Amino acid sequence: MTETIQELNADSEEIAKFERAASRWWDEEGELKPLHQMNPIRANFIDRHAHVAEKKLLDVGCGGGLLSEAMAQRGAHVTGVDMGSAPLEVARMHAAQSQLEIDYKQTTAEQHASEHSEHYDIVCSLEMLEHVPDPSSVIQACAALTKPGGDLFFSTLNRTPMAYLIAILGAEYIARILPRGTHDYAKFITPAEMSSACRQAGLEVKRIRGLSYNHVTQQFKESSNVGINYIVHAHKPTYS
Ligand code: SAH
Repeated sequence: MTETIQELNADSEEIAKFERAASRWWDEEGELKPLHQMNPIRANFIDRHAHVAEKKLLDVGCGGGLLSEAMAQRGAHVTGVDMGSAPLEVARMHAAQSQLEIDYKQTTAEQHASEHSEHYDIVCSLEMLEHVPDPSSVIQACAALTKPGGDLFFSTLNRTPMAYLIAILGAEYIARILPRGTHDYAKFITPAEMSSACRQAGLEVKRIRGLSYNHVTQQFKESSNVGINYIVHAHKPTYS
């Protein structure tokens, strides 16, 4: 293969961060704790709006497979793609332990789209867009991968002072839940930028909801506050 990782719209330092965390991916108290805390609420959100049972679902930037497994448990036929080899190894082993059939592949959304155009009913890319050089290219690829009439879900961090305070200062420096350097503020994406990238990819934005952390229950809940974490539901129209 002659392509460099840049040509693949993947940042090798970002991939390396997740490679290092891979062995602790399923540790609910490890550095990926926030993903564990978010998982039930985002899985419910996706299922509520797209009814995943028996659907072909692609999880882009699946990591160790938290969302992929939650979707497979609800009866979806899941493919997970990621550029990290260690997270994919963990995902494969964990799926086998959980007795779930999930097809994990090491590739990017863009590469996968070149061979699987309009193949999936549902395409998700959660907490990944803030780690890639060109998020709108990923959104374009996700749109190309989705069948007309299908649904897409994207979640990320908003570029607000509050997100900086909570996700970087709070989580990386004060509570030290996340290793320093996990997030880069400049790569956070506003809901307006996300909506515009979706529209440019020919998608309709159906809803944008906040995922807000509740310090008492230590869980995320859906809310109208999109100031920190948020999730977008987009739809690919049947007409072109
Ligand atoms: N979506 C998962 C994991 C989020 S962590 C979840 O929410 O539970 C971000 C993941 O994106 C990491 O596993 C990292 O390896 C992957 N990633 C980063 N850039 C990527 C790219 N360009 N293509 C595919 N995966 C990528």
